[in-house]
Amino acid sequence: MRLVSFEGGFGRVEGDTVVPMGPSLVDWLAFGTQGVATAPPRPLAEVKLLAPVPRPGKIVCVGLNYRDHARETGQEIPTEPVLFSKFANSVVGPGADVLVPPEAEKVDYEAELAVVVGRKASSVPVADALVHVAGYACANDVSSRSLQFRSGQWLLGKAIDTFLPLGPFLVTADEVPDPQALGIRCVVNDEVLQSSDTGQMVFGVAELVSFISRTITLEPGDLVVTGTPSGVGMAADPPRYLRPGDRMRVEIDGLGELDNTVRARP
Ligand code: ZN
Repeated sequence: MRLVSFEGGFGRVEGDTVVPMGPSLVDWLAFGTQGVATAPPRPLAEVKLLAPVPRPGKIVCVGLNYRDHARETGQEIPTEPVLFSKFANSVVGPGADVLVPPEAEKVDYEAELAVVVGRKASSVPVADALVHVAGYACANDVSSRSLQFRSGQWLLGKAIDTFLPLGPFLVTADEVPDPQALGIRCVVNDEVLQSSDTGQMVFGVAELVSFISRTITLEPGDLVVTGTPSGVGMAADPPRYLRPGDRMRVEIDGLGELDNTVRARP
């Protein structure tokens, strides 16, 4: 199933319509209810799409988690996951603008596979971890490199308002048999700048969910944002940072296309 959140509720996509299924996708995940229609289908073009999870309780991000990206930034391949966080203020949906505040320079794109937790996960073994995953979506871990590296902590350059586009929909896990076999790309103004596959991850989805759950209980609607492959603007020669008007598109096989435009924050 492809699930979308929109202003007024959530539902599943069927062709060019959405079948409403209730007020909150996260509540629906938490209570494990069936895919029951609550209203007649509506044309997709007539609803205002939000991020599939518009206000995640937790957003756990993973740094340097692709071998090709660790290499291009001159970093060692980590021996255990490098975690940082964003907050719900960063999340925007498909088509939304990414608004760059004046403080944020050297703004960069990062195409990433987002994992949406479906069942509470606390100290789960790797072998059981994927049972706790509701599904997957495209994400863009937009980052201000100037703020990210200003201190020892990445938070300032990562958790900026609007800097985590997510969507366009959540694809349920039953339709993604192997999350480590997906092509992932970032296209900026029709130029393919990142092109890799999730098999390049240092720690796969199951390992990440298991590792995080050892100390942080993951709950329905939480996100794990699993890192970016090579091709970020920071690593280009010369660096290629985003400018107002740039159109970013994250594509992951089977998960659709996530389009967002960069704007200066007024
Ligand atoms: Zn990232």
